[in-house]
Amino acid sequence: MKLKRGNALILATHNQGKLEEFKTLLSLYDLNINSSGNLDIEEPEETKNTFEGNALLKAKYTAEKTGHVSLADDSGLVVPALDGMPGIYSARWAGPERNFAIAHKKINDLLEDKPRDAYFTCVLAVAWPDGSSKIFEGQSHGELVWPTRGDGGFGYDCMFIPAGDTRTYAQMTKAEKSKSSHRTKAFKLFQESLLPD
Ligand code: IMP
Repeated sequence: MKLKRGNALILATHNQGKLEEFKTLLSLYDLNINSSGNLDIEEPEETKNTFEGNALLKAKYTAEKTGHVSLADDSGLVVPALDGMPGIYSARWAGPERNFAIAHKKINDLLEDKPRDAYFTCVLAVAWPDGSSKIFEGQSHGELVWPTRGDGGFGYDCMFIPAGDTRTYAQMTKAEKSKSSHRTKAFKLFQESLLPD
């Protein structure tokens, strides 16, 4: 099942930033990388109610359409005291304008005096054209702070302090964040299981 050097791998994304991030992570493995965006394959609607469901849906759709192994991800912020919200709706809580200041305030208002522990999760799904698939999940646990701190990063970075640190992800360099990030952890599991030695 392991990928071999020279094999095709299609990234199920239309997001140029994600594509570049994955290309960097995969650069050592000599894979033939393309993306659903570059191949003009539309993104399926994310109709499932779990990270796993939505990541699998995207990977399977792209594998079926292209006939090649495909990789998709789904990620978000989970706040247990808010019944797991915003969860799979993390991007949508920022509204059509992707205004994350609105989403930050909404979370803080809803939290009131409730516990502020939270975690980011990242699910990577790999799908083969024969319908088989595998998933890998990474989590980064920490707590939410208010007011937000720092202006690096994206999304919910400026209100999240990972366990064992005193700074938010938005106050760290990319390299510092990636040491504990949910995306790095999921990618490491994928690498150990499926990437060439
Ligand atoms: P996706 O593109 O559907 O996976 O959307 C994930 C959403 O979750 C993003 O728009 C962010 O709001 C949030 N998110 C995921 N990972 C991170 C992170 O590392 N930092 C901050 N926000 C994140």
